Amino acid sequence: MIQNIKGTKDLLPESTKNWQFVEDIFKKCSELYGYEEIRTPIFEKTEVFSRSIGENTDIVNKEMYTFEDKGGDSLTLRPEQTAALVRSVIQHTLARNISDLRLWYFGPFFRYEQPQKGRQRQFHQYGAECISSPNPEADVEIILLANSIIRNLGIENHTILLNTLGTNNSRNIFKDKLVDFLKSIRTDLSEESQRRVETNPLRVLDSKDKKDIEILKEAPSLLESLDEESKLHFDRVRDLLEKNGIAYQIDNKLVRGLDYYNHTVFEFQSNALGSQNAFGGGGRYDGLFAQLGGKPVPAVGFAMGVERLILILEESKKLEKIYYSVDAYIVNLNPDKFEFSLQLSETLRAKGLKISQDLQHRSLKAQMKEANKVNAKYSIMVGDEEINTGNMTIKHMKTGEQSHVRLDQLANILLNSNM
Ligand code: AMP
Repeated sequence: MIQNIKGTKDLLPESTKNWQFVEDIFKKCSELYGYEEIRTPIFEKTEVFSRSIGENTDIVNKEMYTFEDKGGDSLTLRPEQTAALVRSVIQHTLARNISDLRLWYFGPFFRYEQPQKGRQRQFHQYGAECISSPNPEADVEIILLANSIIRNLGIENHTILLNTLGTNNSRNIFKDKLVDFLKSIRTDLSEESQRRVETNPLRVLDSKDKKDIEILKEAPSLLESLDEESKLHFDRVRDLLEKNGIAYQIDNKLVRGLDYYNHTVFEFQSNALGSQNAFGGGGRYDGLFAQLGGKPVPAVGFAMGVERLILILEESKKLEKIYYSVDAYIVNLNPDKFEFSLQLSETLRAKGLKISQDLQHRSLKAQMKEANKVNAKYSIMVGDEEINTGNMTIKHMKTGEQSHVRLDQLANILLNSNM
């Protein structure tokens, strides 16, 4: 038997319902904030990612699905959206002057990682980017949008971690201080962190190694290296979040994995997830447009992992509400009168009701069983008597309650049922 590729998942109908619920919320919340959807190709020229994410990050170093196509071009399955989105915005000159460009996306992404709970090789992200404003107000709008999604999904007990990397100048001053410190304690660090001292020193702060975490308590703090501009920006973000009742924790070790961030960075965490406890994150990336060959355009954005959102919802039993596949299943008692059932189905569908019916000439009992199996809300019996009198018998499949309804009242009753 041929099986799916390691680290990928088939989403079967019972889980696609949960996905559709979550996707509807992405769309609804994005629209509430005036964001429009963008869809870019699944693969890009490799340089889109290698030039932006950073040569010394795990993603570019170890995790990209990169291959040469028959024309000899190096292509990569997108490991994240921001770089490809910026490529597209530059190519189509979507960012103009000081007009704000608000975009959201949803789709599959690919990273060659060791699969575990909440970590796959093909996974999905929803995200949003607010492009053109260099101001803290844009950072706050993006965090509010993310928070609105979390709230609308019904996720509770999550934590927002917040930090600033400051201006490029502040970040570089801090980097030098950090490297001096790391070199002084280098041999005590884990192997991975020792390697990162040269290649990506800020990432050492992200280490999950217990001994590293202990040693790093002595590391210089990013906050102490901030210049006036960085402080003003961060204070404004904090102030606006507080005024909007958004609780957050400062974590000055939060640097995020990618090279392109400056100023505000943030991450969303949930204890429901175990070791992979981050379900989303983002930050400001004012340098990325220029890095990808465009005019400099400031921007801020975030991404959320959809598998992890669904895990949190499953864990907190938020997805256990009953989903009906159809509003009614028509139980046809006389195959010779199928035209009546068909016409009834079409009339009800035209009113926006979801209808399914027997196509296999099954017995009454087998059709009722089928109505149950497909999770229909109601069954509608159609036999000679119903056809002659126009008096229909409907049954609520969960409660078993039966009632007689006039044919011309049927659509109204089904539309208004809130059982
Ligand atoms: P990142 O693009 O690395 O900042 O990731 C943003 C979010 O995407 C994370 O918080 C996760 O929820 C999700 N994510 C990243 N990598 C994976 C993966 N391999 N499998 C599942 N979700 C992932």
